[in-house]
Amino acid sequence: MTVRAGREFLAIPGPTTMPDEVLQAMHRPALDIYSEQMVNLTDSLLRDLSRLFATRGKSYIYIANGHGAWEATLSNVLSRGDKVLVLESGRFAINWGAAASAMGAEVEVLKGDWRRAIRPEAVEARLRADKGHSIKAILAVQVDTASGACNDIAAIGKTIKATGHPALFMVDTVASLGCMPFEMDQWGIDVAMSGSQKGLMTPPGLGFVAANERAREAHKKANLRTPYWDWTEREGTEHYRKYAGTAPVHLLFALRQAIDMLFAEGLPAAFERHRLLGEAVRRAVSVWAEGQALGFNIPEAAERSNTVTTVLVGSDHDPVKLLRYCKEKCGVVLGVGIGELQGKAFRIAHMGHVNAPMILGTLGVIEVALNALDIPHGRGGVEAAIDWLGESVKP
Ligand SMILES: *Cc1c(COP(=O)(O)O)cnc(C)c1O
Repeated sequence: MTVRAGREFLAIPGPTTMPDEVLQAMHRPALDIYSEQMVNLTDSLLRDLSRLFATRGKSYIYIANGHGAWEATLSNVLSRGDKVLVLESGRFAINWGAAASAMGAEVEVLKGDWRRAIRPEAVEARLRADKGHSIKAILAVQVDTASGACNDIAAIGKTIKATGHPALFMVDTVASLGCMPFEMDQWGIDVAMSGSQKGLMTPPGLGFVAANERAREAHKKANLRTPYWDWTEREGTEHYRKYAGTAPVHLLFALRQAIDMLFAEGLPAAFERHRLLGEAVRRAVSVWAEGQALGFNIPEAAERSNTVTTVLVGSDHDPVKLLRYCKEKCGVVLGVGIGELQGKAFRIAHMGHVNAPMILGTLGVIEVALNALDIPHGRGGVEAAIDWLGESVKP
């Protein structure tokens, strides 16, 4: 017996649900890649990506996922042997650092915690100790999609500035761009990167990078540059070189549509929608946690992300069974625990093209699963989410 006919709902942190308009935008012939239409499409997207990152710097589009965009950021500004400081808050910055290490950088991890956001004081202390300025770049994620931590990038940027340390500040916004405030220039970020398939509601396959003047200065001396990722190669007037070859035409159609929808909603409204729906999820999880079997991975409420919530599952219960029930019986796909949380957690994504019925439906299905699998939980999680939205979303 199942109740899963109809559209399966992806509540995983990427790829996320794509709006029908985005899917439809791709259902058309390719463009002549040398046409004026193509050039205009690229120009409009590069301009709007810089607007999303909130920078006067330059943006670049790669045919790549987030891992590719990581490589793009590193190869353009670093040289072999350069020291990179990775700010740990879960899994993703560590993996970005691992790429840097494999590419020939010397990587130091500023020890963090899978259950906490980055502490700016720790960053400050490490940078002040680096009197010779051997650290060339600092890597951090805005949201760690594994732990569910949301880092205060503005505070970290301010701290770096206060120390007067010249290292480039590089930030991963794959799980946050378009969903929560991000101010590349104002927050003192030199390089930012993102991907298409999470908050930006577009198929996987596009990676984005933005770089400011300081980063482009470092780029001139970087020796890890390779032809595909190279900013200089992409800055010529010839359109073909902006993608180092054929443009990913259909993904660009999709992205154009997605960004149009985001701007039509208004970025502040989109951020507020994510805050409201993220809090709805948290209200439900808080109630479920009363049963002592489930809990937040991030204990500090202010450090929880508005795009993904990581829920710990006590050792008496198997999160994989819960996920399987939700998917196979009810058609809702939740995220598994990854990294240190493998087998110990599940993740609820609430980023991108999400609305109240999607989130309440997802929470409702989780509650069905908790009941069906006899996992102890406080009663009334969905009701708490409903109450929150009713109080917060005024007529
Ligand atoms: C998903 C994700 C990535 C990796 O992106 P891929 O497209 O899977 O390579 C990197 N960083 C963060 C924060 C992510 O959430």
